[in-house]
Amino acid sequence: MAQLSDDCFAFGGPMMSVDEAVHLITARVTAVVDTEAVALIEADGRILARDVTAPLPLPPFTNSAVDGYAVRGEDLPRGREQAFPVTGRVTAGASGEAAKAGHAVRIFTGAPMPEGTDTVFMQEDVRLDDGGDVVLPAGLKAGANVRPAGEDIARGHLALKAGSRLRPQDVALAAAFGLTQLDVVRRLRIAVFSTGDELASPGSARAAAQLYDSNRFMLMTMLRRLGCEVSDLGILRDEAAPLAQALQRGASQHDLLLTTGGVSTGEEDHVKSSVESVGRLVLWRMAIKPGRPVAMGIIGGTPFIGLPGNPVASFVTFVHVVRPVVLALSGALPVPLVAIPVRAAFAYKKKSGRREYVRVTLRRAGDGALEAIKFPREGAGLLSSLVDTDGLVELPEAITMVEPGDRVGFLAYASLL
Ligand code: AMP
Ligand code: MG
Repeated sequence: MAQLSDDCFAFGGPMMSVDEAVHLITARVTAVVDTEAVALIEADGRILARDVTAPLPLPPFTNSAVDGYAVRGEDLPRGREQAFPVTGRVTAGASGEAAKAGHAVRIFTGAPMPEGTDTVFMQEDVRLDDGGDVVLPAGLKAGANVRPAGEDIARGHLALKAGSRLRPQDVALAAAFGLTQLDVVRRLRIAVFSTGDELASPGSARAAAQLYDSNRFMLMTMLRRLGCEVSDLGILRDEAAPLAQALQRGASQHDLLLTTGGVSTGEEDHVKSSVESVGRLVLWRMAIKPGRPVAMGIIGGTPFIGLPGNPVASFVTFVHVVRPVVLALSGALPVPLVAIPVRAAFAYKKKSGRREYVRVTLRRAGDGALEAIKFPREGAGLLSSLVDTDGLVELPEAITMVEPGDRVGFLAYASLL
């Protein structure tokens, strides 16, 4: 399992910025080292374990970019059009014979360039004369309409870096090299618990004062999107001893323990004390809204993150804390979230020194600019505020207010996982 050194939380300060907190933990987790070979079709979203260097150039051979007529550069018509006898015909997948001097070869897109030729006239730019010769216009540059071997990628080029999170285009590149499998980091195993006496599992009876546990399904789904294998450890009651036991048991079998709820400082918040009884805890009162508090710790060498119970706080802290930790544990190269500048169509006041996230919908304004419309209500418990919006506007620590028309950074939900 992934290990975390026990002294890694030796730091002071009660309230940490998101960046400090994330840096502190990601710099100290040791990535898992186990790898597995997976078929290309299974590789999407996985973390590449080893560099891939190009075993062949792309394209592998010089070929025609268009349907037309191939000629030798030294034969190109100069000054005025010129008729060429057509000798030979080479189609995609076939190989042509060497071209004769002063002749043109009929050629099709993707077909290898006949030896001696280096230029292709598009069929739209030529005509055939009565004798069947092709009349080629003057003015085409030598080398036109040809894709030279290696113009995309040279043999030996570092094409895919270890730590990349593989995307369909990366898989395509591996296929273009003729590979059938890629070595990837094994999936992280992550345990997810919900905590709270007020929670009922979907499918079980719900008492009048209970609500169905939604966070666990949100978090498990988010983890799956990040390529993790998830253990659903259900709902834990607001009671310290069983909580501690479950966490300790989970630690030995997982790379990360993730809980939601029970991390505040109320009498019925038992996650803190449970973690302290079986491991070490630092309550990171992180300077993030919605979010704070987020608990982080270590149990038997396994990192622990306790997210808040309010669904929106849970979502936002997952994205900004759990995601970077998961990426670090899986040996991924850091993938910073890139906020896209949009125009605020709302006013907002915030505390300095705290990063805040506003749920927004995007709209195209009359002048063509993209505008962010704030969800009308702010509660951190409103699931509808996540469902009915497109993403989050990120307001950095230093800002204290936003006025309509200000430029703000927008993070689309689709870009977060
Ligand atoms: P807590 O952080 O435990 O104080 O929880 C704060 C609030 O979040 C609770 O009052 C619940 O309404 C809500 N909540 C906690 N856990 C969950 C969960 N797993 N799913 C949905 N809502 C939750
Ligand atoms: Mg609770």
